[in-house]
Amino acid sequence: MATSTELQFPGSGDLISQIRFESDEGKIWLNEQRMLMIHASVMGQLRKELIDTLGVQRAKGFLMRFGYHSGWKDAELVKKVRPDLSRQEAFYVGPQLHGIKGMVKVKPVELDFDVDSGKFHGIFDWIDSYESEVHIKEFGVSEEPICWTLIGYASGYTTYYMGQKIIFKELQCSGMGASHCRIEGRRAEEWDDHAELERYLLPDPIAEELFALRHELSELRENFGSSEHEEDLLLNSVGRSGAFRNVCNLIRRASTSRVTVLLQGETGVGKEVVARGLHESSNRSDKPFVAVNCACIPPELIEAELFGVEKGAYTGATQSREGKFERANHGTIFLDEVVELSPRAQAALLRVLQESEFERVGDTRTRRIDVRVVAAANEDLESAVKEGKFRADLFYRLNVYPVHIPPLRDRTEDIPLLINHFLGKYHNLYNKRTLGVSDMALSALMSYKWPGNIRELENMIERGVILTDNNHTIDMDSFFPSLSEPSHPLNVINMRGELNRAPATETATNPPAETPAQLLKEGFSLEQLEHQLIREAMEQSGGNISAAARLLGMTRPQLAYRLKKIEE
Ligand SMILES: [Zn+2]
Repeated sequence: MATSTELQFPGSGDLISQIRFESDEGKIWLNEQRMLMIHASVMGQLRKELIDTLGVQRAKGFLMRFGYHSGWKDAELVKKVRPDLSRQEAFYVGPQLHGIKGMVKVKPVELDFDVDSGKFHGIFDWIDSYESEVHIKEFGVSEEPICWTLIGYASGYTTYYMGQKIIFKELQCSGMGASHCRIEGRRAEEWDDHAELERYLLPDPIAEELFALRHELSELRENFGSSEHEEDLLLNSVGRSGAFRNVCNLIRRASTSRVTVLLQGETGVGKEVVARGLHESSNRSDKPFVAVNCACIPPELIEAELFGVEKGAYTGATQSREGKFERANHGTIFLDEVVELSPRAQAALLRVLQESEFERVGDTRTRRIDVRVVAAANEDLESAVKEGKFRADLFYRLNVYPVHIPPLRDRTEDIPLLINHFLGKYHNLYNKRTLGVSDMALSALMSYKWPGNIRELENMIERGVILTDNNHTIDMDSFFPSLSEPSHPLNVINMRGELNRAPATETATNPPAETPAQLLKEGFSLEQLEHQLIREAMEQSGGNISAAARLLGMTRPQLAYRLKKIEE
């Protein structure tokens, strides 16, 4: 067992270097977490309000959990900043951060623990607790220990660190008139009154109950398609931005008639989701919705696929079968990548649109059909007409009601909504619950350009959920495990030089990121990397040198000099 004479914190430079002031941006960072600087006295006022409105016991529980979450978040940092130090020095991250944050000065008295066997015993002295100070100011000397946020922090931090419930108690407290506080931490079950202590620390059972109810409610709403849900979920798609609402209005208007709709937009913007929404809000919603991606079917088969085939029409057609149009009869057919249709299929589609009739391949019988057509194309359809690859008459027929779906980068205000939507989806799918996205990762996702649009965002969230343990925050490493894509935001933010990242370590939470050694092996040149970064920063800032310099953590003259060198 270590005694007080040999217990000493290592230097705190590694922790302090995690703190970054982005004063121009109105942000303070601790590694990837956005932090706040608040007045201790204001915390005191909040405490008073809580006690006055909730009563002492509830306020105590609230503040303990507040501290608990903060300790938990800080413990996530340990493996990032002290992967190579001894277990004891790594553990000191928590107590040292307590001091760095100005909450209390911590002195270790006894510390004896073993992560593998789960053994833990620790005694610390707390000198000048901010919490005692503000409590005494509002309420005078107390009859019981009152450093609730601090004790919650110690418990939350150590519980995360040890991977099992550790509870700290104050043996004495300066809030009761002692010269300083002294705390002791043990495994929860080693405290006689652990049930009572844990009740304070565990999430409020009422909150859990509310959460479960809310979950139930949202499932009910999804099943019944309640209109209250419309705020966030329009026609099956998520969005609140003006650009997106505009699309929804157009679709809603189209849904009341049989008009042919042409959806235009980049790959991944969610055209099929919108088409399905159109179908479901139309009076055909109880009839089939059939989606066909024309690019996935070989041109020589597409006519048979869409319009069916009659026995003996060609070698191998041993049986008559109906096509997608017949299957969609009275409903809606969605033709994605319509530009890929063969000339014969284009002619047949035009006939369906004009006369509502068609023939199966190899058949002479004309069949009548009632199908609403929703076609989709990238922005390339008009140029395909100009190049003679797509029939002009068919284009005009499809283009009677064009709807442009904006790319994700033009509706960034929907990104947080979409993230929540996909988190919900993949939490359910993988039966997990992460703590969501780290503040830093969110700001990276917000500034990313999303060439793959919503589909890319969805894939990224799925990846983040898979790679992150329950009750952990999804950080940037989980979203962007490969550093080899120069365009992804991690590179940009990482190389700003402002975020001091520890060398990647292999843990269950974080997959091994590409190490510098790997980058070198791949023949990565520092010069190339620098040029790439500068170009990216210039692009992101629209050619504004000062703004690009800020992104890169350089002064304007420094960047101007480097730009000149690149040009030479
Ligand atoms: Zn105290």
